[in-house]
Amino acid sequence: MKQKKAHGEGLFQELEQRVFRPLFDVDFQAEIQDIAQGDNQISFTKTELNEHDREQLARYIASRSRDRGKEGDFSDESSWYAVDRLVYNIGETNLDIFSYLPDGYKILFCPNSKVYNGAVDYENRIICVTSDISSLGSIATILHEVGHVKDNERLKKLDVTELTKGGDWEENRAAEQMRKEREASLYALRKMWKELRKNEQTKKDILLYLKNMAYYSHCITGLQNISTARAMAHHNPYDPELDMQEELERQRYDAWEKFKQSDEYAAWKSMKEFTQLDEFEEYGAWCQWVEETGKVDDPEFLGKYFGFEQ
Ligand SMILES: [Zn+2]
Repeated sequence: MKQKKAHGEGLFQELEQRVFRPLFDVDFQAEIQDIAQGDNQISFTKTELNEHDREQLARYIASRSRDRGKEGDFSDESSWYAVDRLVYNIGETNLDIFSYLPDGYKILFCPNSKVYNGAVDYENRIICVTSDISSLGSIATILHEVGHVKDNERLKKLDVTELTKGGDWEENRAAEQMRKEREASLYALRKMWKELRKNEQTKKDILLYLKNMAYYSHCITGLQNISTARAMAHHNPYDPELDMQEELERQRYDAWEKFKQSDEYAAWKSMKEFTQLDEFEEYGAWCQWVEETGKVDDPEFLGKYFGFEQ
């Protein structure tokens, strides 16, 4: 059992090396950076860490005692930076991080650290990332934290503190933690999916990384106990890949509905391979057509029917 765990940890280290390999040579001393490398681009503006930010940062560092003292950790406050503008273009995917966040947020990060984690402080509007911001893994981490902010906003709007119900108080609390993590990871995956799906290894790595990130942040604190397991029986199991497939399936079906209302539908239906199809056969045929003709990678088509941001 022990051996198996060690093996698993080794695999995770390899994954971290792949996922956190910087895509850009960033000069973190510069106030503004705009770097294009390969098919990718990063652009950000640094901002000051004020007295209040520093207090919150010190508190955060202290709270992560189990990650400190490791090689290349993040305990030195002076090696942290902050940004209030951060835009990526990864392949065809544009990610303007602060456009997803409410006003006043800052992202704090520690480029020299080899510890990979993130956290969000809603009250003080701070997202902390214990690594740099120039790798796919960092982007996933940042988007996961943005996902938490989005989820939190949704709860506020609904005027509830949790969405998980059906168990006793302890069960709900534990299951709600897992729901939040799952939701945050799904948010990150949705934003990155178009790029991730282009490379099987990267896709698997990021899925596993996000899954582990969520588990690590809570299970170690003893939440994965019998009550969690029981409460989870009231709720979907945590499987982002499965959820992602469901989500994509939903998106695809919505896209089909939209397509059917459009004037492109008549032209499609008049093609000889589709004209004979019964109504119930159309959706399946359309999905195949979308894949085979490369429409799934056509930004215009995706924007029009899938509502993906350009
Ligand atoms: Zn989280």
